[in-house]
Amino acid sequence: MSADSPTRLIIHGAKGRMGRALIACAGRLPDARVVAEVDQGDSLEAVIDQADVVVDFTLHHVVPGVARLCAARGKPLVSGTTGLSEEERAALTEAARAVPIVWASNFSTGVNTLFWLTRKAAEILGPAFDLEIVEMHHRLKKDAPSGTAASLARILAEARGWSLAETARHGREGVIGERPAREIGIHALRGGDVVGDHTVIFAGVGERLELTHRASSRETFAQGALRAALWVRQQPPGLYDMQDVLGLKG
Ligand code: NAD
Repeated sequence: MSADSPTRLIIHGAKGRMGRALIACAGRLPDARVVAEVDQGDSLEAVIDQADVVVDFTLHHVVPGVARLCAARGKPLVSGTTGLSEEERAALTEAARAVPIVWASNFSTGVNTLFWLTRKAAEILGPAFDLEIVEMHHRLKKDAPSGTAASLARILAEARGWSLAETARHGREGVIGERPAREIGIHALRGGDVVGDHTVIFAGVGERLELTHRASSRETFAQGALRAALWVRQQPPGLYDMQDVLGLKG
């Protein structure tokens, strides 16, 4: 099949909230065609050879098996599944030696702009500003903090040259004393049907800068993931993120 033909997609996690949004969105794209919808209990292995790209939005522990199968069958992978452990991320890195993989904690263009702005603001404002992240999601979300909040925390830690493991502070309770300067506060709110809100707060003395992104529909993630699926098909093996897809690096 030539690169000009519609990209044949398998949606993995097809019955989920994101899976359904992806199928609806792909139906409106002339360059993409969903050839199989796979969910729990179905066999990805049985249909994978029909696809040009596998798009996965499932559960963290499912990702290593999908990545290994894609690597073994030479199929590019786009995954937006969050909550991955270090070992699960390592499985993606290993599979990306054989096939191109895009993994992103958030596929929206607005959030990827927020990532860029967050890095810039941290660099401009410098160490006198305290760093806090607040996220809110719907009551059914299974992991916390969100993958996007974790990405924002990584960006802030990198900008300051800190180890995230040593400086991340998940919530506060009790008589905890004064806030250390070397800390990144991360706070996860849950409730209702909130699709995804993220705020990065730079709190200085006498002023405060807040960068906020609010997603109002899953369509934004689905559109970004499909854009990544069309892009990844043309790439050499490697592990990419949405900043690569949007050309925001470098
Ligand atoms: P969901 O619970 O609605 O859907 C998950 C689907 O995966 C379900 O249909 C479930 O049956 C299926 N599934 C579970 N195990 C499976 C398996 N072994 N094989 C095949 N399918 C399996 O969840 P959701 O809201 O669609 O979110 C899915 C993931 O995507 C979560 O990790 C979420 O945080 C993440 N997410 C990422 C982005 C992004 O932009 N990166 C955006 C929204 C959600």
